[in-house]
Amino acid sequence: MNVPLVRSDVESNARPGRPRVAILGGGFGGVYAAMRLEQLRRRRDEFDITLVNSENYFVFQPMLPEVISGSIGILDTVSPLRRLLPRTQLLIREIESIDLKNRSVMLSQGFRPRPYVLKYDHLVLALGTVTDFRTMPGLHEHALPFKNLADAVQLRNHLIHVLEEAAIETDTELKRQLLTFVIAGGGFSGVEVAAELNDFVRRVAREIPGIDRSEIHVVLLHSGAMILDRELTKKLSAYANKILQRRGVEIRLHSRLRTATPDSAVLESGERIMTKTLISTVPSLPNPIIESLPLPKEKGKVRTSEYLSVVDTDGIWAIGDCALVINPSGEGFAPPTAQHAIRQANIAANNIVATLRSHKKESYGFEGLGKMGSLGYRSAVAELFGGIKLSGLFAWILWRSIYWWKLPGLDRKLKVGLAWALDLLIPPELVQLKLASSQGISQSHFEPGEPVFRQGDLGDSLYIILNGEADVVREENGTERILARLRGGQFFGEMALMNQKTRNATVRCATAMDVLVLRKGDFRALVSNLPDFRASFENVVKARTEHAPLSEKSREI
Ligand SMILES: Cc1cc2nc3c(=O)[nH]c(=O)nc-3n(C[C@H](O)[C@H](O)[C@H](O)COP(=O)(O)OP(=O)(O)OC[C@H]3O[C@@H](n4cnc5c(N)ncnc54)[C@H](O)[C@@H]3O)c2cc1C
Repeated sequence: MNVPLVRSDVESNARPGRPRVAILGGGFGGVYAAMRLEQLRRRRDEFDITLVNSENYFVFQPMLPEVISGSIGILDTVSPLRRLLPRTQLLIREIESIDLKNRSVMLSQGFRPRPYVLKYDHLVLALGTVTDFRTMPGLHEHALPFKNLADAVQLRNHLIHVLEEAAIETDTELKRQLLTFVIAGGGFSGVEVAAELNDFVRRVAREIPGIDRSEIHVVLLHSGAMILDRELTKKLSAYANKILQRRGVEIRLHSRLRTATPDSAVLESGERIMTKTLISTVPSLPNPIIESLPLPKEKGKVRTSEYLSVVDTDGIWAIGDCALVINPSGEGFAPPTAQHAIRQANIAANNIVATLRSHKKESYGFEGLGKMGSLGYRSAVAELFGGIKLSGLFAWILWRSIYWWKLPGLDRKLKVGLAWALDLLIPPELVQLKLASSQGISQSHFEPGEPVFRQGDLGDSLYIILNGEADVVREENGTERILARLRGGQFFGEMALMNQKTRNATVRCATAMDVLVLRKGDFRALVSNLPDFRASFENVVKARTEHAPLSEKSREI
């Protein structure tokens, strides 16, 4: 087999001489910016538009909690990016890093572990925030986040699983634990999740003979004096408290989650709530890519001018939840909501085009139309145009109408409309989708002459040889040099993982070979948590760096 050993960097398809606009993130900010740029572009060759997102779909997050109760289908809240953005180049990859000096973005590997370098003239940062449990012990392992479609599907499956288990559980303590659901965070997303979850478990419990609805215990934890106290007026937030309590949700005020274990949620007061279901919508932290950038920031968000360009930079724009945009009044900052992200996207796109055409830029002047939150079954709260306050059924109809109208694409509008109509007639769906996990150690097979990875590839995995042999080959100035022959029981691939660099040699099979593959995330988890494991790999890296060509001894596991 004749395979080139070294890969060259691959660039986007932007042609020289044509301005390139790269948008990072395919949420409200990124998608609406690309849509607006598509509208504004006079000719196809005026400028290139590229959008990078980790998924190939856009998630309409305000409707995500409804996926839990099944009042809309799993795919109804998402729209394929290709259909929304027909004239934008889409790169469905993870963003690994941004090099502001060289105006380039490094993307993760695809099927082949080669780096993808995207060059830009204008960069739009629209990467949102992340629900990150690093700051709270036990949450990463035992709490469920609620931010994207995968989280909603995972939660729904988990709920059905615990209900099925509770139906046959004879140990009363464990049954109580299975039927206790704890949600941390009394802002909009926490409240909406609690409301939908409560509706769902109580509705489906009717169909499960082994569960009495009085055994269900839904607890909402909030650090403030009243839920939604930062989002709404006192009266509306009191209404939200009352409705949820009437529906059986226990609201714990002035309560903060401290940690989580496989069996409990532990509060700062020391109280332990025994549960198998803990959902946390907090803490919402800056996206790590944004954190890594040497840009002016406050509260982890990128500071922008009134034109939405990043302060003290040229050709960098920031919008949505990752941006700190000062209110037009000069007081306070735009809140992290979809309505602001959409308006900021439009203004940033207008200003990019104005810059390219040497026109005057416009300032961001949107103050917000109001706030709305669903409380589950036929009730909601809303505060509109700075003074109009609504609650109950009318607010709920308004909430559904506004968000339905805002759903992008006629197909989604029809699907959601139909799902809501059917939800009035038929009971919620109870199917649990068991999806295989892509995590953990996997096994791969290679044939003679095939490369496992090539010089210049991104480091994505560590390989342990089960049987067969491979050569470590380095190419320099067009000449190949075999550094070592590897055999069963030896490992390779750790250099690029430890140093976070690209591969410095190719590993090519000499015979048919079977390997165990440990992915980067799992390798890093072991390296960060097992000092002995880390030390032994650091020694190997040192030995291999100092003593190339590599000794056989240093390749023993
Ligand atoms: C459950 C929930 C309910 C909500 N309800 C409402 C509501 O009712 N009303 C309202 O106005 N707002 C609501 N919001 C808030 C609203 O959704 C956000 O303000 C809005 O999504 C912000 O848009 P954004 O583009 O800044 O970020 P996001 O929409 O979060 O988009 C960021 C995108 O960047 C991508 N990304 C991040 N890192 C990488 C990477 N390294 N590589 C590749 N891609 C990456 C993500 O996949 C994502 O697609 C809700 C949010 C949630 C979570």
